[in-house]
Amino acid sequence: MGRTVFGVFHHARPGLRLFACVICFGLAGLIWSLPRLRIRRLRRAARCRTCWTHQRVRNVAVFAVAALLVAGSLARLQTVLAPQIRCHSHVTAEGDVRPEPKLNISPPPWWAATRSFLVAPISGVGVLAGWAQGMESCSGPTLLVMFWPPPRISGGGTTLGDVFVAWMPPNGPTHGYLSEDVYGITDEGWYFRYGPNISEDRVNEAELGFHESRHVDQWAVGTLVAGPFAFPPAYFIDGTFFPGSRNHFERHAGLLRGGYAPVDDNWPAPLWPQTAGLVALAVLIWRRRLRWLIRVAVGGRSQVRVHAPGRCPVHTTGWRPLR
Ligand SMILES: [Zn+2]
Ligand SMILES: [Zn+2]
Ligand SMILES: [Zn+2]
Repeated sequence: MGRTVFGVFHHARPGLRLFACVICFGLAGLIWSLPRLRIRRLRRAARCRTCWTHQRVRNVAVFAVAALLVAGSLARLQTVLAPQIRCHSHVTAEGDVRPEPKLNISPPPWWAATRSFLVAPISGVGVLAGWAQGMESCSGPTLLVMFWPPPRISGGGTTLGDVFVAWMPPNGPTHGYLSEDVYGITDEGWYFRYGPNISEDRVNEAELGFHESRHVDQWAVGTLVAGPFAFPPAYFIDGTFFPGSRNHFERHAGLLRGGYAPVDDNWPAPLWPQTAGLVALAVLIWRRRLRWLIRVAVGGRSQVRVHAPGRCPVHTTGWRPLR
């Protein structure tokens, strides 16, 4: 290959591939990249058209997602380097900023730094999503918050790593321009609260902050084990079998602090529609493996390696044992 951009890319590829796998899938990505496993996949792709196509699609997808995560990391770095106003600081018409008291809910500095680093890629995707919607950022307790500058207020949002994107419209009727009637206190003069203004007061903010901080811990550990997309499905699957106050992640974060009612026992209480959905999804994903397993179960051990020409056993069609 010549000395083109693609040529350089071609020679840097093993390193890039490893990096992309790790940023997308954490330690699981590292194991996936082990030479032994990779050689096995390449051999299968050489023998099976379907495996070959899958490998192509997977490569493109992993590199595309890795590029997004790198962009996210840079965006998150920018928000660390640029000074941030504390959320819900009072900002007067003259531009004076009076910060709210700082809540002391940060974990030990070494862990605060480690977890910020671990969740930086996905957090930065939140920052990018906020910027794309014309949002500004403030540093809340625990989370960096992306929000529309006042007078726009918000009704909630989504947490990505340690960034909260307050994208949801307010629930009830709003109080009008800058909510002067709510936020402005006469003897303090007129001001607005710099932040998403989801709630009008700071009741339970410290408690909620502790709770959210635990969720950031969980997201960080999930990222280390299986990448930035591990935590949401883990939470969802756990919540399908252990809904609400039974959810293990919520219990770990603190039920009371998160506003969850305590429950007497922690037996599974599956949500059946969601369970059915998960089962259907699993069958859809593993349908070919299932087909192969049924052939093996019916036809015996000899069926393990039997395959059609140009296909691996798993990608060989037919539910009945082959000749
Ligand atoms: Zn080459
Ligand atoms: Zn195959
Ligand atoms: Zn929670």
